[in-house]
Amino acid sequence: MKINDFPSHIQPYLIPKVSGHVVYRCLGCGAEYDISRLLYTCPACHSVLLLTDLAFDRLKEIPPDTWHQIFDYRRMLNIPALRGIYRYHEFIGPIMPLDAVIYLGEGHTSMVEANPYLQELVGVRFYFKNEGQNPSASFKDRGMASALSYINLLVNSGKLSDVLAVCASTGDTSASAALYAAYLQPGVKSAVLLPHKKVTPQQLAQPLGSGAVVLEIPGVFDDSMKVVEALSEQYNVALLNSKNAWRIWGQESYSYEIAQDFDYDMDHKVMVVPIGNAGNITAIMSGFLKFFEAGIINRVPKIIGVQSTHANPVYRYYLEPDPEKRDFVPVKVRPSVAQAAMIGNPVSMPRVIHLVETYNQNAGAQAVFFTEVEEQAIMDWQLTANRNGHIACTQGGESLAGLVEAKKRGIVGEDDVVVLDATAHPLKFAGFQAMYFENRFPTAFEIVPKKSLQNAPRLVRPRDLDVVPTAEKPLEGKDFERFVRRTTEAIAKELKLVPRG
Ligand SMILES: *Cc1c(COP(=O)(O)O)cnc(C)c1O
Ligand SMILES: [Zn+2]
Repeated sequence: MKINDFPSHIQPYLIPKVSGHVVYRCLGCGAEYDISRLLYTCPACHSVLLLTDLAFDRLKEIPPDTWHQIFDYRRMLNIPALRGIYRYHEFIGPIMPLDAVIYLGEGHTSMVEANPYLQELVGVRFYFKNEGQNPSASFKDRGMASALSYINLLVNSGKLSDVLAVCASTGDTSASAALYAAYLQPGVKSAVLLPHKKVTPQQLAQPLGSGAVVLEIPGVFDDSMKVVEALSEQYNVALLNSKNAWRIWGQESYSYEIAQDFDYDMDHKVMVVPIGNAGNITAIMSGFLKFFEAGIINRVPKIIGVQSTHANPVYRYYLEPDPEKRDFVPVKVRPSVAQAAMIGNPVSMPRVIHLVETYNQNAGAQAVFFTEVEEQAIMDWQLTANRNGHIACTQGGESLAGLVEAKKRGIVGEDDVVVLDATAHPLKFAGFQAMYFENRFPTAFEIVPKKSLQNAPRLVRPRDLDVVPTAEKPLEGKDFERFVRRTTEAIAKELKLVPRG
């Protein structure tokens, strides 16, 4: 729809203008820094930063009903820059001119209700939000769209040139970074650091295909992360890890979309999200808090962070009920099928600690919870979800296993409506499915496949057929007829088909 076709009272709001007063704010010492340069940690105390709009209160002057209309009407606007995460421009990038926005099709992923069988099995109403439908097939694209739009803005305004974007990754960050950087070549190039043999072949194929320099580093993700941090402190590179606060801003769009999809009614809503480096849960909390502060939603939903027992530092931290006594201890990770979340020392931990406190205060009661799940449950629930028409990756399976656990512990009630973050596309993790189907998980995973969830192709090759077609030698005449007839009969027997009457 064209702008003049919208109701006149909403027209002035539909195309956002550059506004706000955005600064980096240090979560350690509270110092604020100008955003005209890329900054990842506080120069004074080395703590992590978040972006803050010091002029946020102007957004509260617009009534909630008007905001609802702005976002709902923007859905119908054919302006590419507003098609993705920047539908919520005022909340995730008010300083961004629309002509700097990089839109590669990210955001507005489907929220699909679990099929009746699965809901019955779990005992609660729930949805999957399919983040695997983003362009590089994970939610990371939301943050990259934001971070690369910002870099594009700096390049356009002459503040930056010949950018080398770098990141360390459990797979999906590098796939996304490489994709968005490739779109901006030749002004932007990318190099990604991956823990050697700790990302799936599909995730390795992605940055290679986008033309990034791919560097494999011994050890696990936490080791690669330390190297990329040292690199970004000592050399002139643009760090695209979730230390980069622009990524967090883009990822807040996830919360805004869910709010909008529920018509801004957050009563009895529960979000379940897997935690790795903790950037995603940071963004989700921050997003709901901002919408609540602006009056756009009536309450903040419950949030449940899930970790595998093989990589559970956040869960362990919150086991201690007394905030005064909590002490963060990084863990040594063990092999996990939720490999994208296999992180022992999450860089966003200070953000989580800060936001959980603020979130619970705004909710008026505890609203953020943490659960841990076994590797076995992750795989079993992933496969179960997908056998019911869903597209959950292993981390999506972790979300579902986390919901089952939360239900057991009474964190989720009968009246609740739950949204599970299915963070990536299952094809990225097809190798774990194959290990399950073929019963060849190394023992460290502690996974014993259930027969009922296994699957394998069956070759149909009737023994009494002398010749079968090959690509080089197709069959003809009688041989071909016999091949079709005998193969059809064999399939009918296998599937116990009843002849047509
Ligand atoms: C990155 C990632 C996670 C973990 O998110 P964090 O922001 O690191 O906590 C979970 N699932 C997938 C598929 C990911 O790519
Ligand atoms: Zn500081």
